[in-house]
Amino acid sequence: MDMITQAPRGTLDVLPEDSHKWQYIESTALSIAQDFGFREIRTPVFEHTNLFQRSVGETTDVVQKEMYTFEDKGGRSITLRPEGTAGAARAALEHGLLNSALPVKVSYVTSCYRYEKSQKGRYREFHQFGVECFGAAAPQADAETISLALLILKSLGLENVKLHINSIGCPTCRARYHEALRAYFEAHKDELCGTCLGRLERNPMRILDCKSPVCHELAAKAPVMIDYLCDNCAAHFEAVKGCLDAAEMPYELDTHIVRGLDYYTRTVFELVAPNGLVVAGGGRYDGLLQELGGVAQPGLGFAMGLERLLMVMEENGCHFPPAPKCELYFVSMGTKAVQQCFAMATKLREGGVAVECDIVGRSLKAQMKYADKLGARYTVVVGDNELETGVAQLKDMTTGESEEIRLDDSLYTTLYRKSLDRELAGMTNLFGSVAEIG
Ligand code: ATP
Ligand code: MG
Repeated sequence: MDMITQAPRGTLDVLPEDSHKWQYIESTALSIAQDFGFREIRTPVFEHTNLFQRSVGETTDVVQKEMYTFEDKGGRSITLRPEGTAGAARAALEHGLLNSALPVKVSYVTSCYRYEKSQKGRYREFHQFGVECFGAAAPQADAETISLALLILKSLGLENVKLHINSIGCPTCRARYHEALRAYFEAHKDELCGTCLGRLERNPMRILDCKSPVCHELAAKAPVMIDYLCDNCAAHFEAVKGCLDAAEMPYELDTHIVRGLDYYTRTVFELVAPNGLVVAGGGRYDGLLQELGGVAQPGLGFAMGLERLLMVMEENGCHFPPAPKCELYFVSMGTKAVQQCFAMATKLREGGVAVECDIVGRSLKAQMKYADKLGARYTVVVGDNELETGVAQLKDMTTGESEEIRLDDSLYTTLYRKSLDRELAGMTNLFGSVAEIG
């Protein structure tokens, strides 16, 4: 089999016809997060392996089965990031971000790498939009983070995504829960998968997140953390729910959410699409920064799977802005015309107009055909005659109508005025329909 022209399993190419959708999703998410005070952070694709072992957790599926780990030429163990929180936390500690005013709020768009069985909505390279908020302990921080995730989805046209929340407590109340869980799974020891047998002693909560069907079935009937919360954790959870209620944000208590990463404490949540896919997940991780050798500061965040988000948006008929189109195509005939068109295109491009001209050497007819294929809004044919008179025909490709224009700086003004007219017409339509509704 020819491997050279085939991407590795579990990876996706974003082709030019779709890239504007990605740009739209990413810029929408980043800009809404910015309104909440989150500023973008960019961290490396690879980190030292022990960063993820420490933060994500030794007993998790991610660390035990899914990481892309290799030794670099200097003999270091390196891992491609399986998620974004660890790198953001590492960078925040390394650069002392927590030494200034708290909280510190960061956002990111990153690629992530997990060696998983590839299937619908599950890839080996995937992308996340995520945020992290360091140094905010109050329950309203949890509600704010959740509301950010919801607002991003709403702004993208997804209002039918369900919010599932749970609390998985703190190390104090969890000790008692671990005992109950151990006792439960101990009684079903023969049925557990090999990995979970090992987890039984070290971290029985991880069994709840196991994907093997038998463990999954056992987990469904296991004791739930919410029944074991200490007073502080219970009060925190009540206060989070109080904020969500006050803002009329509907949620469902899902006592089975445990999340696949070890660092979570207290509030955890998932956003579930109508097709059942989890498009975002997150929660609080009050022990993480200290676990990484940093300050004892709380933290929380979420990550949204962008491939899943795009898939769900398409399934739900969400609106995307149109793909960018060519505004003006210069059809040129003859060497002089080619040069003149190139000069005019250069000027117009400096002014921010989307202009193209022939760079293949096609015939007049073939250039017109190509301009049509591009979806160019206008064409101008420039030949000897037009060069001589300095006047040409600006053809509107949608109506087929032509008007006379001068081949000088006024071309820019003409195009600009036309784009303003269109924008105005669009606004009139919009306000017209708003008036109808109102
Ligand atoms: P799942 O339970 O589906 O495996 P997870 O708990 O491992 O998800 P997180 O680590 O919380 O996922 O990552 C946050 C989001 O990233 C998920 O909600 C999902 O949208 C997305 N995601 C996670 N793993 C993948 C993957 N292999 N391919 C595509 N998207 C993914
Ligand atoms: Mg997973």
